[in-house]
Parts: sequence; C-alpha cells; structure tokens
Amino acid sequence: MIIIMLGAQGTGKGTIAGLVSKETGFPQVSTGDIFRKNISEKTELGIKADEYISSGNLVPDEITVPMVKDRLTWEDAVNGVILDGFPRTIEQAEKLDEMLKEMGKKVDLVINLVTPREEIIDRMLTRRVCTNQECKTIYNIKLNPPKVEGICDKCGSKLKQREDDSDSEAINRRLEIYEEKTSPLVEYYDKKGILKTEKVSLEINRMGVDVANDLIKMLQK
Ligand code: ADP
Ligand code: ZN
Repeated sequence: MIIIMLGAQGTGKGTIAGLVSKETGFPQVSTGDIFRKNISEKTELGIKADEYISSGNLVPDEITVPMVKDRLTWEDAVNGVILDGFPRTIEQAEKLDEMLKEMGKKVDLVINLVTPREEIIDRMLTRRVCTNQECKTIYNIKLNPPKVEGICDKCGSKLKQREDDSDSEAINRRLEIYEEKTSPLVEYYDKKGILKTEKVSLEINRMGVDVANDLIKMLQK
C-alpha cells in the first residue's frame, strides 16, 4: 500500500502520516525529516540540502530522488509506506511512478489536505517539533500544546521551532513553490482516480487527528 500525503505546509501531513503509520505499521517516509536528520548530523547530503532548505527552496532532484528510491528498498517498506513531502513536483511524481513500476508497485491512495491560507500561515508560526530525532512529534502551541511548555509529552525532550517556520521569507517562498510546483499534482492524481480530498480547518472543526482517525478506519476495513 503506497499512500501519499499531499497538501501545503501546515495542513497536517506529518501529523496524519505519523498517526496512520503507528496504527498500520507502514513507515512514514518524510523527505523533510530525512533532510533535517542529515543536517543535524552534518552528513554530506545534509550540508548540500541545507543550502536550499534554509531559504525555503526545493532540494534538487539529483539529491532527493535517489534518497527516496533507496528508502523504498528498506525491509520495513515491503508492505507499504506513507510518503510525506514527496513527490512535490510533476517530475518527481513521474519518477516515483517509474521506480514503483520497477518494484511491481504503484501509488494506491493520495490524501489531498486543504486548509485556508490564513490558517496555514498561523499554523506554521505556531508549530513546534520535538528535537529528539527518534520522536519528532509535532505540536502546535495554540491548537495542540504540550502539557509542559517547551517539552515533549512523549519523550521529555525539548521542543523547538523549525528555522524555516520562523523566517517569513522562507514561509512565503515555500507557499509560492507549493502553488506553482506541487498543486498540479492534485490533478495528476485525480486523473488516475486515486485522490481523496480532505479539508482540515477550524472553520469546520476538523483537525488532522480527525482525518487520521477516519483514514485508519478506512484502511482497517
Ligand atoms: P514543509 O512541507 O512544511 O515545507 P517539509 O518538512 O516537508 O516541510 O520540507 C522541508 C524542506 O525540505 C522543504 O522546504 C524543501 O526545501 C525540502 N524538501 C522536502 N521534501 C522535498 C522534495 N520532495 N523535493 C525537494 N525538496 C524537498
Ligand atoms: Zn519527543
């Protein structure tokens, strides 16, 4: 089962992917998390990727695509994965189709998360992440705060704001890139008949956890 989480920044992709992963056992493959882990460990890949990420630009495909391809061959991915943050362009989607085809697989389901723009920016500014790379739980100081300020409920590590979430230029750049490069994927997957659109918004009192719970029920049927 290959599931893709699609949606702009701050729509809850990572939160939903994490919850669904825990229930189904399909690993969450977040390209952003893999890059951040490499950056914190100062690997060669991390040093290269950091140049692009800190300014809110996409990391080039020469780095990103082989990294995902490799991840899909890991033992834990044999039954399926939840892709979070990949693909982000039509070219990446086509490359993903190719690599899955070679493995005798295909994309089964694409969850397209939609949130109003004002809420998106607010959610990015109030997002906090656990600094423990094994945990990486995502909080929101307004909507889903930790019990103790600045501390992860699950593992007790410190929470922090991502650098690209505190820089308004990087935020705007990321949203621009989403509109221009990533949003065409909605049509790409809709045409294949595998797209499911979910609104996540305070307006309708539907948050990422609600979408995750419905998705888990659907997958367990
Ligand atoms: P967000 O969706 O909130 O921007 P992510 O954690 O998904 O955060 O990604 C963080 C950054 O990592 C992106 O801004 C981009 O620079 C890089 N990145 C993540 N996924 C990809 C991808 N599929 N292709 C290119 N760059 C990526
Ligand atoms: Zn934690």
